[in-house]
Amino acid sequence: MSEGAAKKEEKPRKFQAVRGTRDLFPPETELWNRVERAAHEVFATFGFGEIRLPIFEPTELFARSIGEETDVVSKEMYTFVDRTEKLGPEPKIGAFGIFIEKVRELYRSGEIPQTGGNQLALEHMESAWKKFNGLSPDVAISLEDLDNAYQMTAYMDAMRLGIEISLRPEATASVCRAYVEHGMQALPQPVKLYYMGPMFRRERPQKGRYRQFYQIGAEVLEKEVASGEWPLEARGKRVASKEGKEVTSGPPQAGVASKELAKDAAVDAEVIEMVIAFFDRLELQGVQLDINSIGDRNCRPKYIELLRAELLKVKDKLGLDSQRRIETNPLRVLDSKLESEQGIIATLPRIGDHLCEECATHYAAVKHQLEMRGVIYRENWRLVRGLDYYMRTTFEITAKGLGSQNAVCGGGRYDGLVELLGGPPTKGIGFAIGEDRLILSLQESGKGVVATGRDVYIAWMGERAHATAIRAAKDLRKAGFSVELPPVEQKFGKALGQADKLGAKYALILGDNEVSEGLWTLKTLADGSQAKYTEPDLLEHLSKQRALKL
Ligand code: ATP
Ligand code: MG
Repeated sequence: MSEGAAKKEEKPRKFQAVRGTRDLFPPETELWNRVERAAHEVFATFGFGEIRLPIFEPTELFARSIGEETDVVSKEMYTFVDRTEKLGPEPKIGAFGIFIEKVRELYRSGEIPQTGGNQLALEHMESAWKKFNGLSPDVAISLEDLDNAYQMTAYMDAMRLGIEISLRPEATASVCRAYVEHGMQALPQPVKLYYMGPMFRRERPQKGRYRQFYQIGAEVLEKEVASGEWPLEARGKRVASKEGKEVTSGPPQAGVASKELAKDAAVDAEVIEMVIAFFDRLELQGVQLDINSIGDRNCRPKYIELLRAELLKVKDKLGLDSQRRIETNPLRVLDSKLESEQGIIATLPRIGDHLCEECATHYAAVKHQLEMRGVIYRENWRLVRGLDYYMRTTFEITAKGLGSQNAVCGGGRYDGLVELLGGPPTKGIGFAIGEDRLILSLQESGKGVVATGRDVYIAWMGERAHATAIRAAKDLRKAGFSVELPPVEQKFGKALGQADKLGAKYALILGDNEVSEGLWTLKTLADGSQAKYTEPDLLEHLSKQRALKL
């Protein structure tokens, strides 16, 4: 078929953005930019630096960190195999030796992913090749060699060129991966990083809930000081050794442990203070901070058992989701919004009454630290988070105008996550702000208005004026004004109408008279007033007006 014929047959098709994704465009994007600029500025004042992360990562990273049982990992991730084609083409049997050598090289260089499965397949291919004798022309091929040949091709088929990849549903796991990968534990601690960008979760789209949404988040990571590295006087009782030197023995002094807890609490509080400072800067309305402590490895398992036992007693009165969660994740029952369950939940044991001493000390210190910073909070014993890695401090911030999707920020402490990802024992605390919801809330409360339009619309007529107009536009833009320069001349009436439509503040009128006199006419569109300026005076006048925010 000729190209022309093909085109005729193809019906033009209109495309739409995929469900749960959307386009953002002016003037709204101006608000997004303002929000992001504020984040850069506020976070920098707290000593945070930006990290830019990949949009996709090995699925395994999320499965390990967020937890296989969570909704996010079990059903919401966009997952695919990077390359589905197989290793090939299959070599002639005599060339298998060379082929295997090539595969080994590709494996070594990482071109073929260094996964357990691929390593095993390679080893099996090699051992079958070593056993293979079927190349001699004089000997009939044996059954054993047929099997060896079969093994070689079967394992070749089993090699996977791609790994399973997921679009990131959140970024904490990536930040921790990067911390380990780049040996950031060698940097001055703590390492304070923030990020912003799109995240992906296959959820039911609704107001404030999308499949591609945006988060602004930050993390504080700090390598744990092993007790052996504690300052000498902190390690334990001082005793004299045989050689007469002073050494230490016995358990560390309680003072050190509590100093660590106090330090963690101050870090938690400062991170929360930073989010609040950011929201204040944006004048976000109806900000409500809820905090809780969900215990640690010591006390949470015992509490969960207690909770489970109590839930089993009232199982019949719970909805199906909660009944299921009694087994899988009883903490999530506390999160239930189901009206009929609220009365029962109110009678359940509260984690606050079952924290171990360390967690209780830490939680009390966090509250004290928040008070010192003038951060207003509400304790919410039912606040649990959906991701597995949280411990001790958890918090959530809600804002006005969002209906039931009213959480704009979630965060918490996650000591141990970096270690789980192959790094050294490391403490972590962070948060993620839902930027889409933040923006919705600003818009709903009238704080999302951003100035658009142009500063100056240049209305010009005549060839000589055109050259002047081009020069004027260049100078004004250099001085930071936004300028609209029509590409063809227009009657002044039409040009002024156009300037109005674009929301310009001023029209700069350049005709033959203006050019020959060297006096340019500036019209203020709001009140219609007009004045004449020389070129340098005009720039000065506009700059003054800008400084006065007029
Ligand atoms: P929710 O309970 O609302 O589903 P979450 O606990 O799943 O939130 P986190 O994983 O803690 O949310 O993410 C932090 C923030 O990211 C949330 O408070 C919310 O503002 C935002 N967020 C999460 N999922 C979405 C989504 N699908 N669309 C828009 N924003 C989202
Ligand atoms: Mg969610």
